[in-house]
Amino acid sequence: RSGRPQYLEIRDLRVVFDGFTAVDGVSLDVTQGDLRFLIGPNGAGKTTIIDAITGLVPATGSVNHTGTEILGRKVHQIAKLGVGRTFQTASVFENLSVLQNLDIAAGSGRKPLQLLRRRRGVEPAIEEALEIIGMEHLAGTQAGTLAHGQKQWLEIGMLLVQNSDLLLLDEPIAGMSQDEREQTGELLRRIGASRITLVIEHDMDFVREYATSVTVLAGGRVLSEGSVAEVQADPRVQEVYLGA
Ligand code: ADP
Repeated sequence: RSGRPQYLEIRDLRVVFDGFTAVDGVSLDVTQGDLRFLIGPNGAGKTTIIDAITGLVPATGSVNHTGTEILGRKVHQIAKLGVGRTFQTASVFENLSVLQNLDIAAGSGRKPLQLLRRRRGVEPAIEEALEIIGMEHLAGTQAGTLAHGQKQWLEIGMLLVQNSDLLLLDEPIAGMSQDEREQTGELLRRIGASRITLVIEHDMDFVREYATSVTVLAGGRVLSEGSVAEVQADPRVQEVYLGA
């Protein structure tokens, strides 16, 4: 790719469910290398924004990924354009090994049995993903037996082998131990340095530690945006969070 940074440019995004406006004209810019956190009270529209970007719910407005309009495309087309997403509950193939999960994500089309019999080495992209998520030693482990945190990391690894350059992560540290949280934060820093990353998160300690910038959403609209310090000093944000 050229030297110009990649970007996500959302303009006037609107999602309406049966007459209820869940996302009400949101505009948002995230640049490559930015670790942007999307915060706000329950029902603010955070998940719906990610659903709209990934094509799961119909929306109007514009979602531009580095020059390509992705709104209105089908889910699999959007994924092919490098948009990768994780859910609060990791969706890995529990009965397959870590390596097999990554292999399927890489889209090799091989059947698990062929993979088991395969003698040759692991593909470089998969090897690299294993290393980035710190799970090389678990390549042969059945995914269903992994710890909660490891499943989340595997899911992130699956996005990496799919060459996702726009990562949308929905509460990646939910249910994690303190140790797992820190490892996840470091992982996000590593992968976020070269990608566009938008993370939904409720844990403000985690946001303070790892966000390079924050967008605060309330009632389907952008309430405030900037550094963690800036949004925390914003009286409108304090109002929403203190319920004043
Ligand atoms: P958040 O992720 O910030 O908690 P959501 O994006 O999940 O908020 O929800 C935003 C609003 O849209 C909520 O009021 C929610 O009830 C509503 N909503 C979300 N999905 C649907 C749906 N499929 N049908 C109707 N309303 C929905």
